[in-house]
Amino acid sequence: MPLIRYHHGMSSQTQASPKPTKPIEANQSADFCIVGGGIIGKACALGLAQLGYSVIQIAPDLEKNQALMPNQFGQRIYALAPSTKTLLSELNVWDALDHQRIQVVRDMHIFGDRGQANDRLHFSAFEAGRPELAWITEADLLELTLDQAIRFHRQIRNINTSVDDIHIEKDTKPTLTLDSGEQISTHLIIAADGARSPLRSTIGIAVHEHGYDQTAVVANFSCSYPHLQTAYQWFLPDGDILAMLPLPKQQVSMVWSTSPKNANHLMQLRSETWPNLLQEQVGGSIHKTLGNLQLQSTPVSFPLKRIKAQSLIGPDYDPKVVLLGDAAHVIHPLAGQGLNLGLRDVASLLQVIKNKEEFRAIDDRILLRRYERQREGDTSSLLWITDRLKKLFGTSNPLEKQIRNWGLGFVNRSHIIKRQLIERALGE
Ligand SMILES: Cc1cc2nc3c(=O)[nH]c(=O)nc-3n(C[C@H](O)[C@H](O)[C@H](O)COP(=O)(O)OP(=O)(O)OC[C@H]3O[C@@H](n4cnc5c(N)ncnc54)[C@H](O)[C@@H]3O)c2cc1C
Repeated sequence: MPLIRYHHGMSSQTQASPKPTKPIEANQSADFCIVGGGIIGKACALGLAQLGYSVIQIAPDLEKNQALMPNQFGQRIYALAPSTKTLLSELNVWDALDHQRIQVVRDMHIFGDRGQANDRLHFSAFEAGRPELAWITEADLLELTLDQAIRFHRQIRNINTSVDDIHIEKDTKPTLTLDSGEQISTHLIIAADGARSPLRSTIGIAVHEHGYDQTAVVANFSCSYPHLQTAYQWFLPDGDILAMLPLPKQQVSMVWSTSPKNANHLMQLRSETWPNLLQEQVGGSIHKTLGNLQLQSTPVSFPLKRIKAQSLIGPDYDPKVVLLGDAAHVIHPLAGQGLNLGLRDVASLLQVIKNKEEFRAIDDRILLRRYERQREGDTSSLLWITDRLKKLFGTSNPLEKQIRNWGLGFVNRSHIIKRQLIERALGE
């Protein structure tokens, strides 16, 4: 992704190419301009349009074709928390999803790495007094359904390209120049442009970032035993984490977080090799639980890292850009929460805009600070919990290994801690 050029009103300098600032005559204008066409950007565009605002959405992959195959599931599979269901219901999208392609999760089993009977944690919807713990579905289904809803909104204009240049001057509307040369003026720019967020770096918002030295390999399998609407996660002795999430049609989605070297090896495996390889893992536990597993999709891999933006709004001298989703934070997928957290950013921004005082403009710094403050606790605590779990299960220290396995059993016997963990995972 090329660096976005940045012209600002603090001086006549630009970050990437020196050009004097001058007023821009935009071809198009809208209340909000959303950069990024992932699930976060689309959900935000829809929500703002439903509040009555005009929105321009820009991304190079807005018109990608997400055809859904009848008996096959997409490569990106997500566990959705109830907070996500609430937002999608408010956007009138939840009921429009094809529920034949969504798997309800009623139980979750987490296993320690010693293979002992007590080193396990079991969450159950029944015990928690709820109909379900989560839902598993494809990114493609969510995107397709959001696209359909967006098509009904005349206030949303989609532009299928990248941003080339951004111009922010104090007390004037910011302007974006697109790769096509088109210029857009807006009140507020929403950066939903993903983990590498070119907009975030262009306006100079710093991040805390560290790599986990792990890569997630993701693939779908059919299983010969019914998965019983249960999600499984195994912590392996070498620090790997292997999750099997239930899908409809007796399939499961594997997320295997492992060393980059092993991920590279897994990515090269022939499909016939996978069943034996999985049978050998965790003392045959996967095989005993799910039976024979046959590969149903081409494996894909994602390097894993943790990112937290130091601020959710910028630039400091006159905030006109708001960060949402992976542009604001990236977490390890062991808890399956990155998208859910990002959609809670969307819900929070919509709520701040909806409840704003009449005299405030939508780019009022006080509103933007409200959004930033609302998101701080949720984001920091989730990043902290996933980070600690990752470190705890990645350690090779024998004492820490003992403690973490004993801890699983201890938490399993404590209804209060379990309930709190469930509430956290459900986004409450
Ligand atoms: C292996 C794995 C498993 C996961 N499992 C789960 C799970 O079970 N549950 C869960 O909640 N989360 C999960 N996540 C996290 C989830 O994938 C992310 O949090 C989510 O995809 C972030 O969405 P986003 O819209 O913010 O970013 P993205 O999906 O990355 O979208 C970014 C968009 O910005 C666009 N863009 C970039 N640069 C520009 C530019 N200059 N101009 C215009 N557009 C631009 C891109 O083209 C794209 O459209 C998982 C992550 C991984 C790696």
